[in-house]
Parts: sequence; structure tokens; C-alpha cells
Amino acid sequence: MDTSEFRKYAHELVDWMADYMEKAGSYPVRAAVQPREILRQIPESPPQRGEPFETLFADFQNIILPGMTHWQSPSFFAYFPANSSPPSILAEMLTATLGAQCMSWVTSPAATELEERMMQWLAGMISLPATFTGVIQDTASTATLCALLTARERASHFSVNARGFSSSPPFTAYCSTEAHSSVEKAVKIAGLGRENLRKVPVDDAFAMQPRALERMLEEDRAAGHVPLFAVAAMGTTGSTAIDPLREIGGLCRRYQVWLHVDAAFAGSALILPELRWMSAGVEMCDSFVFNPHKWLFTNFDCSAYFVRDVEALVRTFEILPEYLKTSESERVNNYRDWGLQLGRRFRALKLWFVIRSYGVEGLQEKLRLHIRMAYDLAEQMRASGDFELLAPAPLNVLCFRYHPAGIRSDETLNELNARLLESLNATGKLYLTHTKLGGNFTLRLVIGQTNVQPPHVGNAWRLIQHVARSLA
Ligand code: PLP
Repeated sequence: MDTSEFRKYAHELVDWMADYMEKAGSYPVRAAVQPREILRQIPESPPQRGEPFETLFADFQNIILPGMTHWQSPSFFAYFPANSSPPSILAEMLTATLGAQCMSWVTSPAATELEERMMQWLAGMISLPATFTGVIQDTASTATLCALLTARERASHFSVNARGFSSSPPFTAYCSTEAHSSVEKAVKIAGLGRENLRKVPVDDAFAMQPRALERMLEEDRAAGHVPLFAVAAMGTTGSTAIDPLREIGGLCRRYQVWLHVDAAFAGSALILPELRWMSAGVEMCDSFVFNPHKWLFTNFDCSAYFVRDVEALVRTFEILPEYLKTSESERVNNYRDWGLQLGRRFRALKLWFVIRSYGVEGLQEKLRLHIRMAYDLAEQMRASGDFELLAPAPLNVLCFRYHPAGIRSDETLNELNARLLESLNATGKLYLTHTKLGGNFTLRLVIGQTNVQPPHVGNAWRLIQHVARSLA
């Protein structure tokens, strides 16, 4: 494809993209295809000769699009969102065009320095103490692994990196029973052993019980273990429960445990001063992660990782073969040493475009609307008489079930609500996912998509009531 063809097709695609944004809500939200249905339509071998772009794009529309779940539909209420926005998409287009690999300052100084500044902007926007320094990671899972590896190295005086585990103490890690599975994954990968991850019980609001954590720390220490790493959730995946940071932070200080805050979803809400109560105590934490790719309208992937001890982070990851040595490294950041991978995408550009395009106030307005819509819907559910909320809803995630009068058995309710979820998603008009809270099958409805407005929530609520009552 030469540049004149590229120009022609790119213009056509931009038109298609704008049309898609306008009508994303008209597609079935969850892909309605059977397993391997797409695979069967793709030839087993690649073409020997190049094909015209018209054919590729027709196949994209006919084969791929029907197999896509539409995360950018305003009726996408599932999981947590992975939001995009027009300025973010434009930045991604430029990033793809420049095609830079931003591993070191010298491989793209602007990418490195923009990243440094964007992390400062974000830290200020969410009111993190100035003691934190940020770096973009691909995902929160990676950031949590980085935090654990750094904690392990600092506590072992960098001996695990040097000699393996032979002389390191038996480390233990802690998170609540509601923590994200990425914590357990990190514990496995970092070599601590899954059996050395303690799952701390939660209270009625699904937040970690600090007294239980304290007991576990005490017992482990008495048994000769070395408590190393704790994760506090600011917004659990199941129900956006907020672990009490201040109390957990006090314990971690006392037991010299690295405290990492997983705010993957809810961290974005700290741009709202009225929600900063969630981060009270954050000054006692060692690291903090949140995902602008979830609730700050920045295309996946973009995870903001903040750490207090940058030197320990860099000492954990840096490796300096001759071919990577550069003369200015004393004065600049070489982000290849701030995480797992060598090669890095230019992710700061989309953050820059998003933050400047909306402005902090524009972003705050969008988040406030999402939360207000969730509060209104929670009120309607409470008033309905046959729906019940199964968890507090401090933000924009509603955890609920249908509970018609006369049904007392949890088993029957679980089965009824599982059928309700499947029936709802099969309509294609919305997409919800579920979790289990206290053993109960729980529907989750997340109001956080970039373009969701009150009529979308209203339609969803009407459909939920209608389908539920017809099932019963
Ligand atoms: N932590 C929490 C609380 C999450 O909800 C999620 C994903 O939804 C993650 C971590 C993992 O995020 P990522 O996909 O960025 O690794």
C-alpha cells in the first residue's frame, strides 16, 4: 500500500470510525457468536499474494465486527469499562503512525519527558502526596507485580535478584478475600508461593478487616515468617469496596510491610475532591496503581503506577548491557528500568490529549454524572420492592439481585438470578456481568462508559424489571 492509497483508505476509515462512535449503541452489546465461529471463517494459511484493502475491510465488517463485544456501547454495564474517547483515539492514531519504541530517553525524548509530566499531572489530579513518582505500566496486574518484586528485593537486600531464593526468608503476603486475582498471580510469579498469600476476611461492606490482618501478621511473625507485602483495595472488583487505608497503613508501618494500593478502577474517582476520603492514609503506602484505561477515557492500555522508593524500583529492574548504555542517563528517566518490559509504547500522548481536551473539570463532570446516575438507580431499586442491593454502592457500581416475594431459598434465588443475567444479555440490548457476594449470585451494573446517559440507564432498568418479572 503506497501513501496515496493509505490517504484514501485512512479518510474512509475515519468516516467509518466516527459513524461507529455515533451508533455503537445499536449493535448487540455482547457478541452473539458461538465458540470457534470466527476461527472457521479465517483461512488456515496466509495469502501468498497481497490482497486489496477493499477485501480486507469487507472481511473486517463481515467476519470480525459480528464477533466483537461492544465495549464502547453506552449500554455496556459489564466488568469495569475500558473506555475510549475521541481525543484518545486521535492520539493512538498518531502513536501508531510514529511507531516509536520508547524504551529509553534517547529512543524518543519527547515520549519520556511527556510521560514524566503526565504522571505529575495525574498525581496532582488525584491528590497523591508529592513523595510519589509515577510511571506508566500496561496494566494494573503488571504494576502490582512490579510492586511485589520491588518489595521482595528491598526486603532481601536485593539478594533474590542476585542469588535466587536460597538465602531469602520465608516471605508472606496479604490481601482481602475480595482482592483482585492479579494479587495471587503476582505472588505466584514472584516466587513467594501461593500458600504464603493470606486472604484477610472482610466486613459487611466487603472491606478488609484490619484486626484480622493484625492477627495474621502477628501469627506469621511468631511462626518465623517475614510479612512482606500487603495489598489494600480501593474499589474491589466485585463491589468497589474500599479497604480502610489508614488502619492498614498503620499496621504495615508497624510490621514493616510494603503496602500497595490497588485502585485500578476507583482511583480515577480521586479527581473528585468529595471522594478523597477513599485515600485517607495514602501517605503511609509504598505504591499505588490506577487505570486511566478504565474510568478516565483513555484507550486501553494505560495504567498509572506510583511508587515512593524509585531507587528500589529501578534497582530491582535495571540491567545495563553495553548496547543500552547512553551518556545522558544521569539526567533523564530510562523507563525500560522501571518495569518488566524493555520495549515500551508511547502511551503518554493519549493521556495528554484526553486531559487537555476535557480539562480536569470536564473529566470531573463526567464522573459525577456516572455516580449520580448510579445513586438514582440504587434509589429506584430500593423502592421497587422486588430488587435488593447486596452491597453498598459508594461509587457507580450496583450489586443487586431480583428477589420476588415468597422466595426464601438462596439456592432458588441464585438460579433465578443466573437465568436473569443470561436472558438479559441474550437480548443484546445491554451487557451486565456477575459476581458472588457472601455466596449470593449477584448482578453487577457499572455505570461508567464514556457515553452513557440517563436514558441508557433508564432503558436498562426497565428491561431488567421486565425480564425479571416475566421469568418469575
Ligand atoms: N485490580 C482490580 C481491582 C481490578 O478490578 C482489575 C481489573 O478489572 C485489575 C486489578 C486488573 O487490571 P488490569 O487488567 O489492568 O491488569
